[in-house]
Amino acid sequence: MDIEVCAVSGYSDVGRNMTAVRVGDEVVILDMGVSIQAISTYEKEEGSTKMLSAQELMDIRAIPDDRKIEDWKHMVKAIILGHGHYDHIAAVQFLAEKYKCPIMGSPYTLQVLKSILKDDNIKLSNKFVSVELDDTIKISDNIKIELISMSHSTLQCAMIAVHTPNGIVLYANDFKFDNDPVLGDKPNYKRLQEIGKEGNLIALVVECINGLVEGKTPSEKVARELLKEVLLETDSKGKAIFVTTFASNIARIKSAIEFGKKLGRKVVILGRSMVKYNESAEHLSLVKFSRDAEIIGYGGQRKRKLKEIDEKREKYLVITTGSQGEPGSVLDKIVNKQLPFNFREGDIIVFSCRTIPVPMNIANRDNLENSLKSAKVRIFTNVHSSGHASLEDIRDFITMVKPMHIIPSQGNMAMESSVAKMAEGLGYKLGENIHIVSDGQRLKF
Ligand SMILES: [Zn+2]
Repeated sequence: MDIEVCAVSGYSDVGRNMTAVRVGDEVVILDMGVSIQAISTYEKEEGSTKMLSAQELMDIRAIPDDRKIEDWKHMVKAIILGHGHYDHIAAVQFLAEKYKCPIMGSPYTLQVLKSILKDDNIKLSNKFVSVELDDTIKISDNIKIELISMSHSTLQCAMIAVHTPNGIVLYANDFKFDNDPVLGDKPNYKRLQEIGKEGNLIALVVECINGLVEGKTPSEKVARELLKEVLLETDSKGKAIFVTTFASNIARIKSAIEFGKKLGRKVVILGRSMVKYNESAEHLSLVKFSRDAEIIGYGGQRKRKLKEIDEKREKYLVITTGSQGEPGSVLDKIVNKQLPFNFREGDIIVFSCRTIPVPMNIANRDNLENSLKSAKVRIFTNVHSSGHASLEDIRDFITMVKPMHIIPSQGNMAMESSVAKMAEGLGYKLGENIHIVSDGQRLKF
């Protein structure tokens, strides 16, 4: 039986991930994400993307161009989502319906997807099939899907193993090796080691976002300690405290809530995307933030609360959106006087994130920080640990699972080449069993 992998999208640059695996005359699709950068760039120049058709979204490189698997369309048996980040799931609403097949993922991943669909008022005819982590589900006589539990920077993330009569195709996009993830399970190393021992891993798709970062990515526990030090050891008497991070980073939000309580402050979570990810987690009883924090999405309620915080700033700790300085986020609206809060001298703002190093984010963050600096706010940046494996983690991973072929993904040429070079040190050969591909390219095994 021939196995073919189509690198539909997310191989030439970072974002809008989508991969298709053909096993004989059946196909499974792994991930369907958007490029947040492409969407924001378009919105900055042209206005909303809401009116654009799927085709137009493809043309501005916002969603995967799945015309590249047009000839496989009738063979698709399932769409499987690895985790709940926008660059892995948010194109489902534009693309999934043309494939008459179920959408599968961990309960949390599907819950986040449902909340995105609800927010955009979209109903899909595809069936949703929730798969527990470390379970295997049969798609057909020739394909089984296994979700291997993995740490990353949101909840219930998985590596996807596609089992075929010839062996396994393993999709590791995204992951980190975190032995103390604060929330959720450690990576299922046992299963990865078994795959290595069995020796039938045909191909490994591996993310390269941190392909240029040497060493090992620190645990979420380290980020928690960094945050703890800033929040508990900085004199904040009489001052406002704002913490901003990625809305999907539930473990980080958990830490921020705990330190806010330790300071004797009321914790308020503000922002639409914060609500989406947090409500999904509460819905599945993965956290119970509403017990310890007030969670406010939008509208008048948000304005009223910010007014109150402005008057009694020393009583609150606010967790909110705007970590990338993105237009429309709560922090952006505050500094642009669209929301009723005024930063004052000595107020504290903690960026518990990194700035995603693309020109627009860098510019947005610069603007935000300049406004904050002119108000003499104290800024604490990079209070963070990445959710992505660094070069030595990827080396450990490859050594563990022993793939026959390696396909670097989620990176530009420099990131993917760095991983390829490391793999060459392990005995692999570029062009022979390391394949640097661009979007749309196919590899037959
Ligand atoms: Zn991710």
